[in-house]
Amino acid sequence: ARRYSNLASASLEDTITPPVKVEHTQLLINGKFVDSASGKTFPTLDPRTGEVIAQVAEGDVEDVNRAVVAARKAFDQGPWPRMTAYERSKILFRFADLIEKHNDEIAALETWDNGKPYEQSANIEVPMLARVFRYYAGWADKIHGMTVPGDGSHHVQTLHEPIGVAGQIIPWNFPLLMLSWKLGPALACGNTVVLKTAEQTPLSALLVGRLLHEAGLPEGVVNIVSGFGPTAGAAIASHMDIDKVAFTGSTDVGKIILELASKSNLKAVTLELGGKSPFIVCEDADVDQAVEMAHFALFFNQGQCCCAGSRTFVHERVYDEFVEKAKARAINRAVGDPFKSGIEQGPQVDSEQFEKILKYIRHGVDSGATLQAGGDRHGSKGYYIQPTVFSDVKDDMLIAKDEIFGPVQTILKFKNLDEVIARANNSRYGLAAGVFTQNLDTANRLMRALRVGSVWINCFDVFDATIPFGGYKMSGIGREKGIYSLNNYLQVKAVVTSIKNPAWL
Ligand code: NAD
Repeated sequence: ARRYSNLASASLEDTITPPVKVEHTQLLINGKFVDSASGKTFPTLDPRTGEVIAQVAEGDVEDVNRAVVAARKAFDQGPWPRMTAYERSKILFRFADLIEKHNDEIAALETWDNGKPYEQSANIEVPMLARVFRYYAGWADKIHGMTVPGDGSHHVQTLHEPIGVAGQIIPWNFPLLMLSWKLGPALACGNTVVLKTAEQTPLSALLVGRLLHEAGLPEGVVNIVSGFGPTAGAAIASHMDIDKVAFTGSTDVGKIILELASKSNLKAVTLELGGKSPFIVCEDADVDQAVEMAHFALFFNQGQCCCAGSRTFVHERVYDEFVEKAKARAINRAVGDPFKSGIEQGPQVDSEQFEKILKYIRHGVDSGATLQAGGDRHGSKGYYIQPTVFSDVKDDMLIAKDEIFGPVQTILKFKNLDEVIARANNSRYGLAAGVFTQNLDTANRLMRALRVGSVWINCFDVFDATIPFGGYKMSGIGREKGIYSLNNYLQVKAVVTSIKNPAWL
């Protein structure tokens, strides 16, 4: 495990100087770092203090236009879709090697801009970034069409072709992983890309963009535009020369993306949106394990996960024991400077999220839920929030319905499986679910009955490049990762050739 052991002695109130320099703050267009057309910049902030880390070029409509021109040219005339698939795969493998070489630098930048624990960035997320790109590098030369029977007197084949220019809009909670889930399949299939990072976390993608070019990516294939949603993001979703848009973020913005795509050129749309995922602890579950996993399911990444297990349903027989232990675990959670060794929870990403979460906590108290732990900010500066646990939560309370996106666990009691299935499914979302039971029949029943895109049984948040991820209902459209993600970036062309003398007739 990579740690800054020399920093471990700092007190919780100390703010540690990040062991990395910001090298790139401009837009990456056509293989070069350039200023925005307007010359405007915006500050990206350190969530530990609210202080400015760097001024970053602010991309807008004109910059998206420039990026699309570069991506279009790279697609229509450049080598990327024309080189052998093996060549493409080698560039992606080289890129994964460079990610590993720069692991600590990338991780430090990610932690500085986002606030997540450095040990999480360095030991889990950056290694996963390399893993995802190696997975897609492996796909590049295994993507091909089929021959199909047709009517017997024609030769019929399908060609699997790249869609063209892909627009990709990503959020701030996992800046690098969201980038990898989107760039990986797009590049393996031979597309070119205009990617917009979230305005809260523009830095790590720019460093990774440089490494992509060091690995041999031709210019114009990946263009990275930092900027805001209603300007740069909307320009991507409504661009007439972008063939496909992939978005991860809130359900409300997902609807806007779909609308902009339909009002412009009907570009293909995939969406990965919000959730309010149930975590169901059955009466036969191992309570200690369930407490630990439910804690992880909610508090991981400061609670800023689209699939967070944010409705903890506990069977009445084990409810009291569970609540006591969940409370004790939350109180023990190590909160502090994310660069400090052993820290489990850093600050929330920005003041907006911080205020929103505190508002939900007040709402929980006002609506009659029992506050078991936390309930306030942690410390006196930055965007830290105490790990918070509510019990006696009712389904109609706002804290049980809305995506809080913060370190706030809500525990609800249930009596039997029929009831918990109905209540778990009674949500506009359908992203994920956790099931804790030692009974195979119960597990089988729940995994089928839950209307969600991922079910984790006696585990949670198990992510691998091979496992598809996406939502039912208002949690999204389409799947990312795994073999399913390739379809998002491919067109299928049916080619029918007349045969004068069919061999078998
Ligand atoms: P958001 O949906 O506003 O932002 C996500 C991305 O979309 C960012 O890159 C943003 O710049 C862009 N965007 C915003 N408005 C846009 C528009 N009109 N057109 C095009 N692009 C636009 O999310 P947020 O404001 O950062 O967070 C709000 C809530 O969204 C969170 O509290 C959380 O509930 C949810 N969220 C979900 C995920 C997820 O992984 N599903 C990630 C982040 C946030």
